[in-house]
Amino acid sequence: MAARLVVSRWAAAPVAARAGPLVTCRRWSGAAADTVYDVVVSGGGLVGAAMACALGYDIHFRDKKILLIEAGPKKVLEKLSETYSNRVSSISPGSATLLSSFGAWDHICNMRYRAFRRMQVWDACSEALIMFDKDNLDDMGYIVENDVIMHALTKQLEAVSDRVTVLYRSKAVSYTWPCPFLMADSSPWVQITLGDGSTLQTKLLIGADGHNSGVRQAAGIPNVSWNYDQSAVVATLHLSEATENNVAWQRFLPSGPIALLPLSDTLSSLVWSTSHEHAAELVRMDEEQFVDAVNSAFWSDANHTDFVDSAGSLLQHALALLRPTKVSARQLPPSVARVDAKSRVLFPLGWGHAAEYVRPRVALIGDAAHRVHPLAGQGVNMGFGDISSLAHHLSSAAFNGRDLGSMSHLTGYETERQRHNTALLAATDLLKRLYSTRATPLVLLRTWGLQATNAVSPLKVRGCARPSGTRAH
Ligand SMILES: Cc1cc2nc3c(=O)[nH]c(=O)nc-3n(C[C@H](O)[C@H](O)[C@H](O)COP(=O)(O)OP(=O)(O)OC[C@H]3O[C@@H](n4cnc5c(N)ncnc54)[C@H](O)[C@@H]3O)c2cc1C
Repeated sequence: MAARLVVSRWAAAPVAARAGPLVTCRRWSGAAADTVYDVVVSGGGLVGAAMACALGYDIHFRDKKILLIEAGPKKVLEKLSETYSNRVSSISPGSATLLSSFGAWDHICNMRYRAFRRMQVWDACSEALIMFDKDNLDDMGYIVENDVIMHALTKQLEAVSDRVTVLYRSKAVSYTWPCPFLMADSSPWVQITLGDGSTLQTKLLIGADGHNSGVRQAAGIPNVSWNYDQSAVVATLHLSEATENNVAWQRFLPSGPIALLPLSDTLSSLVWSTSHEHAAELVRMDEEQFVDAVNSAFWSDANHTDFVDSAGSLLQHALALLRPTKVSARQLPPSVARVDAKSRVLFPLGWGHAAEYVRPRVALIGDAAHRVHPLAGQGVNMGFGDISSLAHHLSSAAFNGRDLGSMSHLTGYETERQRHNTALLAATDLLKRLYSTRATPLVLLRTWGLQATNAVSPLKVRGCARPSGTRAH
């Protein structure tokens, strides 16, 4: 069965070879001169750098040669700026555990992050809301600047530089796959050509090169993807007054979700997904107008209708009779006083999923394998989940002296992660679509669904580990 899978998967390579110049499967001479790495990670964003760390600190990889190739410059923060970066991620406790396993979380704790203990998600078209909270004061997640995470990973990579080589400002421009049937003068490894013309070889290539992944394209792995009709506007916001600020807020407007994530007692980070035109307008408008738009997006009831409000309160009363226990009450989000100058930037949004995460000698992780709407705050968490799984399978392969590029353990990674990611990708896309409408039957359906879920603790606990819950990897 495994052998059949290998052959059928490689069979796609020549087909893809016709589609573009990147895919090649050929023999070469002089290959012996190339350095052979056990693992090469192509792409050193948050996910690729964390993958290189996970392997660099793995005891079973102590004799292995690992290489990380990153097209961009090295990112270390000589000094933490007082101004917060506008790019932040909501990090789940599971992701924090992964970062702790190789020491990166300590750096983050020594720099800055904000824990949140509650999350309120509510509908702009009705009174429906869902509140996740932690009675036992455990953290639900952490808001961390991407630059801080990157700095922590870079520091940890420097500390294992004897095992992990990092090439910054280096772009992988082509990948040459080993022939499926080895010949006397062929190399069994993947050959990588860099922008400066140099070549190297690897037993396993890990593609962590983002949603336009060159590794995925070169391997001929099909990818289902689409662009949303939305862009996300991010910004750093100053609150009107200092608060405990340990709640993550998200409101579903018909034009898209708006989220306020805590950074400090007085600062929060904004992620507002809306139509491309509105997003461009939000970035262009003067600061005062922008702040008014944000406050009104969180506070205005202009999208409510009497019919949905009455039907919603009817169910609320019925639930109170059936379950007279305490149902989490609505809290009011903080109001915003001003926006950090130049912190407004927009990102076009999309969805994507690779049909396969692995081929012989190749594995995809992070956005190279899946791209998700930020309403779930799960993109990088899914990538970190991929790392936990792949590192676990590779570690046991290394311990047992197996070939790292073999499908026998790579498929274990693929099965585990596709099972998890597919559900999350589908649920996030469904939420995006369900909340992008003002149609009364759908508004009513989601109002009742949210109210019922908010009243029933076990449902909430399950939901909490899913989209909008920012709990799981
Ligand atoms: C507005 C917004 C908010 C978000 N909020 C959250 C959140 O709260 N929580 C969360 O979990 N996720 C969030 N995400 C998603 C998250 O940012 C992404 O999932 C994550 O950054 C993907 O990381 P990655 O390393 O896989 O890919 P990327 O960040 O795209 O990194 C890919 C890297 O590969 C390098 N590269 C590409 N090609 C080559 C090549 N040929 N050779 C060498 N290097 C190459 C690039 O330079 C880049 O550094 C958000 C996304 C957006 C847009």
